[in-house]
Amino acid sequence: MVSGERCLAADDEWSTNNMKEMIGGCCVCSDERGWAENPLVYCDGHGCNVAVHQACYGIVQVPTGPWFCRKCESQERAARVRCELCPHKDGALKRTDNGGWAHVVCALYIPEVEFANVSTMEPIVLQSVPHDRYNKTCYICEDQGRESKAATGACMTCNKHGCRQAFHVTCAQFAGLLCEEQGSDADNVKYCGYCKYHHSKLLLAEGHHPQLTAQKSSARPSLGLSDCSRPPTPPAQPLPFDHINQAQSDSSLSLLLSPGIKH
Ligand SMILES: [Zn+2]
Ligand SMILES: [Zn+2]
Ligand SMILES: [Zn+2]
Ligand SMILES: [Zn+2]
Ligand SMILES: [Zn+2]
Repeated sequence: MVSGERCLAADDEWSTNNMKEMIGGCCVCSDERGWAENPLVYCDGHGCNVAVHQACYGIVQVPTGPWFCRKCESQERAARVRCELCPHKDGALKRTDNGGWAHVVCALYIPEVEFANVSTMEPIVLQSVPHDRYNKTCYICEDQGRESKAATGACMTCNKHGCRQAFHVTCAQFAGLLCEEQGSDADNVKYCGYCKYHHSKLLLAEGHHPQLTAQKSSARPSLGLSDCSRPPTPPAQPLPFDHINQAQSDSSLSLLLSPGIKH
């Protein structure tokens, strides 16, 4: 299922930046918007809530018919499909080079992880991840009483120099702590995250935001996480088609966005 098709047909004025999806956001970048050249694609697997941008999941060609994420496509027993880098089961997964699975978002934010093929973003290559990352415990899991999960998988660390807080990528994603920051040149995006403390300091610090990638691009490598102030987006929950054109007046937009009001 692809977002945007009906919108394109319904509105010739439809353009890259003025469409707002009511349906849950991308499992990788959390952005809920879709673009003509980078649509949000929803998995048609039974009971699967995966939604991803074409570019966030390495979908070379979006099929016109049903689309299935790799997990649903694999027919592997759901219980066996678990991310090697974190304790969370849902989300957009890909095969790893050792026959396991990992979230695309975990692969992006653990610095040593690579994609064997960068256009298809698979398989995910874990061999360069230092053992140290697997030995760290996630402070977010511990904070939330999931001690048994805290040592599962690998951890990223707070991007603030000198801070030693470690956490799972997906725990940080759900807490809204992941960022994309501008690297040395325009094409260079650094995927990083902060502990809750430094993330809140970051938001308070004046003048930081200009360092973040200001533009939410529809194409990789910027995945749309640039705005650290954005509240965490809940995990994607595909709903029936519903498109909102931001060209509509603000009042109608907010009306349509109000919970309980069906378009
Ligand atoms: Zn995305
Ligand atoms: Zn699926
Ligand atoms: Zn993961
Ligand atoms: Zn965790
Ligand atoms: Zn920190």
